[in-house]
Amino acid sequence: MGIIRKILIGILIISIITFVALFGRLPALRRTPIGWLQRALCLHIPSALKSVDRRITGGTLAAKGKRLGHYLFFQKNPLVLILFLSVLTGSAALFLYQGAHRLPTSLLLPAPILLALPYIFTYLCATHTAHYLTAETKETHDYPYDHILFRPVQKCRTCSISKPARSKHCSLCGTCIAKLDHHCPWVNNCLGRGNYRWFLLLLVTLSFLEFYGAFLSWYLLRPHLKTPEEPAFFTFEHFRHLGDAAVRAVNIGGISIAGVGMLASSTAFLPLGLFAYHCYLIWAGMTTNESQKWADWRDDMADGVVFVSSRAAIRAHCKKQKEAQENGEGDSGAKADAGLGTALGLLANAEDDPYVEWPVDSDQIVVRTNDSKPPKGQEALWRRIWSLDEVENIYDLGGWDNFMDVLTGR
Ligand SMILES: [Zn+2]
Ligand SMILES: [Zn+2]
Repeated sequence: MGIIRKILIGILIISIITFVALFGRLPALRRTPIGWLQRALCLHIPSALKSVDRRITGGTLAAKGKRLGHYLFFQKNPLVLILFLSVLTGSAALFLYQGAHRLPTSLLLPAPILLALPYIFTYLCATHTAHYLTAETKETHDYPYDHILFRPVQKCRTCSISKPARSKHCSLCGTCIAKLDHHCPWVNNCLGRGNYRWFLLLLVTLSFLEFYGAFLSWYLLRPHLKTPEEPAFFTFEHFRHLGDAAVRAVNIGGISIAGVGMLASSTAFLPLGLFAYHCYLIWAGMTTNESQKWADWRDDMADGVVFVSSRAAIRAHCKKQKEAQENGEGDSGAKADAGLGTALGLLANAEDDPYVEWPVDSDQIVVRTNDSKPPKGQEALWRRIWSLDEVENIYDLGGWDNFMDVLTGR
């Protein structure tokens, strides 16, 4: 009884920590108790432990922990993938070994396909490398630059290539990734162009498998879950009976049936929740990487340091100033130089914008300034904006078309 209660509490705590660690960093939850808990877990508690270690061992433990942490979190390694596949394989094998012969064939029929799918999608996510940008493939422009999140002048200092729109360098994979969503330790690879769809299917099929496992476990244990009488549902008596029945079922089912069933039912909602979050991102026309960038813009806009203008107007302005300078009409002096520098730095040349067949076209350019004033010498051309509603996300084609874009692996 005592051990079972401890196991139950342990599973609950692990589920909560996993949830907080997975979801706490999402911009939407940044200012909620889940975000605070994530920062406490990942920032404040480790730094408190570090200062204790400094006092006791002179920092030896922290140095070793740092090396291990660096390997675990900052180097591409298959440990999480191995752990994930071990738990999945171990649980399924244990359950089937102890429970398969007690289940009717009709209930076991979906097992082979439901079991195989998460492995197939994990394999497809993990082995995909077509989205690694090399000197040869960097010219493949799938998306136009929006001049907000992505600009043609941005170069990757590690790979020495101009980053295509929607790409990002991953320090774990050591390369720029086309349409990067995020680096996923569960599959030990970056999710982006081509394999993001397999990741979505992995989440769905993993969730299905877990619900299926939880159902089979309930099916085997249900004779022991019956309560002797039927008191009203919302009474202490009813919940006490349910608790007793669960303990009885766990005693009879053991780790292989009840343990696996509880693990499956307590974690089945995690991949489903993550899938729902990614559906929201797709519907909104952004990747996880972009959602973080948009959140930063939203905060900067609220601070009043963001300005919008038209690229055509800025280019015309720069051209005029350049001509004036070449003709020796230096009356605008340093002021004009500053404006020219800012605008050219952000825009480069119109030819740098590669032509990409894309249904949404926009002429906007958005900048943030350090002094919360519009770029010098071009004050009349820029308008201060306060909300994301005032700019266009050109990567958002509308809910359904966004899904098609993802499903076709673009
Ligand atoms: Zn790079
Ligand atoms: Zn990566």
